[in-house]
Amino acid sequence: MPITVSATTRVAAVIGDPVRHSMSPTIHNAAFEACGIDAVYVALSVPDGQAAEAIAAMRTFDWLGLSVTMPHKQGVMAACDELTATAELLGAVNCVFWRDGKIVGDSTDGEGFVRGLDSDLGISPAGLHCALVGAGGAASAVARSLALAGAARVTVINRTAARASALANLAGEIGVVGSMADLSDADLVVNATPIGMGSTDLVDEVPFDVTSLRDDAIVSDLIYHPAETRLLAEARGRGLRAQNGLPMLVHQAVAAFEHWTGVDAPVAAMTEAAQSALGPS
Ligand code: NAP
Repeated sequence: MPITVSATTRVAAVIGDPVRHSMSPTIHNAAFEACGIDAVYVALSVPDGQAAEAIAAMRTFDWLGLSVTMPHKQGVMAACDELTATAELLGAVNCVFWRDGKIVGDSTDGEGFVRGLDSDLGISPAGLHCALVGAGGAASAVARSLALAGAARVTVINRTAARASALANLAGEIGVVGSMADLSDADLVVNATPIGMGSTDLVDEVPFDVTSLRDDAIVSDLIYHPAETRLLAEARGRGLRAQNGLPMLVHQAVAAFEHWTGVDAPVAAMTEAAQSALGPS
């Protein structure tokens, strides 16, 4: 049933700047509709430095919850009443929800990655040697979740060595700094750089040499536009199992939806909405 906005309709939103490109309204409104939840999701452009005002507005208007994107992932932290252990460790929040009358900040990207790996490829990171290429925000979230999910080792490979060390520490005892030579030993290799991303001058490049991977390696590219990066085309050309960033995108939204509503998220409807919003690529 299409959402009918009435006096009882709750509001959820993504805050960011820029925010007009966001696919979150499409994904979340499809989810509310599929579950018959009386809520609507909008995109709010909030200038840099005004994250606390957005959290105050959530309190005043009793909004259902917020998604948080750049530049507010750090700024909202101080305004929340509580943070989850993951948000605290990563120093970033991408989802805000109510728990026992308090506003809680969480980071659902890493959980989204692990859930997406399972739902898309049926793979658990437990016991795997995972290699991460890149050491930015997305890599941090993925590293933490891989460690929580029981990965045997997380090798971090990054252009800037200091960031690789910080990220390896974040994964705890199983985190190590590595080089491209370590890829030949990895079960799961994740591209967490923008190399291959559409609408950039990196679109035709690959972040690492696919021929160096094992025959049974799994390749995950966090990029979802284009749907098939050159890396993924080369990996599939070699017969490797591979996925793009869409399952992570959908499943970080699944985790947010479940925080807000307490209802199991309609994963198929959310995936279909995301795919149609992306269009052919
Ligand atoms: P970020 O914080 O800016 O980090 C980017 C990382 O890539 C850094 O480690 C950077 O290395 C490295 N890098 C950038 N350009 C490079 C180049 N030309 N050569 C080698 N390394 C390079 O970005 P992010 O937010 O983590 O995002 C990373 C990727 O994940 C993007 O493609 C983004 O679209 C994707 N992502 C996907 C999802 C999803 O839901 N699927 C969510 C978030 C992000 P230095 O440390 O040396 O600068």
